[in-house]
Amino acid sequence: MSKTDVIIVGGGISGLSALHFLRHHKAYLNVRLYEADTRLGGTIGTDRIEGYSFDWGPNGFLDREPLTLQMCEELGLNGDLERANENVSNRFILRKGGLCSVPMSPPRFMMSNILSWPGKFRLLFEPIAKSRPEGDESIYDFVKRRIGREAADYLVQPMVSGVYGGMADRLSLASCFPVMREMEDEYGSLFKAMIAKARKAKAEGKKGGGPSGPGGWLTSFNGGLYRLIERFEEFYDQHITTGRPVQSVAKDGDNFVVGFADGETERTRNLILSQPAHLVSKVVADMSPRLSDTLAEIRYAPISVVCLGYDTSQIRTSTDGFGFLVPAKEERGILGSIWTSSIFNQRAPEGKVQFRTMVGGDGDHDSVKLTDDELLSRVKADMADILGISGEPEMVKIYRWTHGIPQFLIGHADRMKTVETELKAIGNLFVTGNAYYGIGLNDCVKQSYRVATSLS
Ligand SMILES: Cc1cc2nc3c(=O)[nH]c(=O)nc-3n(C[C@H](O)[C@H](O)[C@H](O)COP(=O)(O)OP(=O)(O)OC[C@H]3O[C@@H](n4cnc5c(N)ncnc54)[C@H](O)[C@@H]3O)c2cc1C
Repeated sequence: MSKTDVIIVGGGISGLSALHFLRHHKAYLNVRLYEADTRLGGTIGTDRIEGYSFDWGPNGFLDREPLTLQMCEELGLNGDLERANENVSNRFILRKGGLCSVPMSPPRFMMSNILSWPGKFRLLFEPIAKSRPEGDESIYDFVKRRIGREAADYLVQPMVSGVYGGMADRLSLASCFPVMREMEDEYGSLFKAMIAKARKAKAEGKKGGGPSGPGGWLTSFNGGLYRLIERFEEFYDQHITTGRPVQSVAKDGDNFVVGFADGETERTRNLILSQPAHLVSKVVADMSPRLSDTLAEIRYAPISVVCLGYDTSQIRTSTDGFGFLVPAKEERGILGSIWTSSIFNQRAPEGKVQFRTMVGGDGDHDSVKLTDDELLSRVKADMADILGISGEPEMVKIYRWTHGIPQFLIGHADRMKTVETELKAIGNLFVTGNAYYGIGLNDCVKQSYRVATSLS
């Protein structure tokens, strides 16, 4: 039986960035990463077909996390970084069947038809909203309390389904958008907090946030996000074994015994589990039933990504922008669509366009049962209606994620406390991934950094 200082299970961005930070900060430790699949990347993948470049899952990250940028630099990827085009600030929300531009300034907001006049009027009462009830409040309840039901339905629910594939009335505000809660705590009003923050940024000479959110600009790599994974592979090949699923994990004294399908085992002092939480739950069941049960409670929303390629002559509506989101109230079969070839260059051949449409989410678990044909006809019908598309797409790629995005449901913070307590009790066992403290690539990198630098 061989012995290692650190074993990392899982070769998605979380496991790979943990490996990277260990090599950079703890180079004296002997590290091995085991990936079940024959390829690395987890949900990150890019297919390059006939001039199209299709991302399987994520299509970018916000350039606001220094650790991600530092990692890219250390991997020699700075020259390959691709910032989204300026037009990504054009974003749309579907309302009464038509696309409404998301206004980026208060005067434009007042003139837009994204909310009705009573809905806009209700916003004025934000500074005197009722105070927060006890306990973990849902995103929907928070927004309804502060700026009204219509804003919750037409501004926030679509944003929540676009980011989390989630339902705003089920997700915890404190776990999904802690900054909003902090703003309320500190200033007593979101508007007051926004004004104070804008003044502070101006005084410090800082620019405001990009169109992708506060302080972040959507960024990828030339040719698609998989470039990042290819680079990890080039750098760390000698530390990685693919096609080798970890089947069991047990504690033996100060060590862990990691078991593989062929009956072989390996001992390690430290163990980092970066597979999705529902799979971590299975391997830790014997070591800690409480940890296993808590991890099993983290629900995942299914997401299907339907990528379609068309000739530009088939599209009647302008698709100069980021794309559109669909409020649940509109009762469509899709969550929204990203206009990939408008956002990044070289995602479609000259004269063609690529759209990535999302189906599913926590409000539509049945969508995973759809056949490819059913999924495609649902997407084509909505896209034809909303964008005025005529004819058939010339290119179709479908990527299905039955466990797409973890949901930070009400009570998530308490679950995380239990997870931390149980991990500590076992000792030298770590988890990293998108199911714990944030679902984005930056969150995964940040958590992996924390884990890697805490090892000895
Ligand atoms: C459709 C979609 C779109 C998204 N868009 C964005 C976006 O634009 N921007 C963004 O920041 N985030 C986005 N996300 C979220 C982001 O993709 C994830 O947070 C991130 O990729 C998760 O990485 P991970 O390494 O934690 O998990 P995963 O990518 O799931 O990797 C886990 C790895 O563990 C391996 N594994 C499982 N079991 C075992 C085992 N027993 N032994 C060994 N290996 C095992 C798996 O094969 C897999 O490779 C998106 C997610 C989805 C699904």
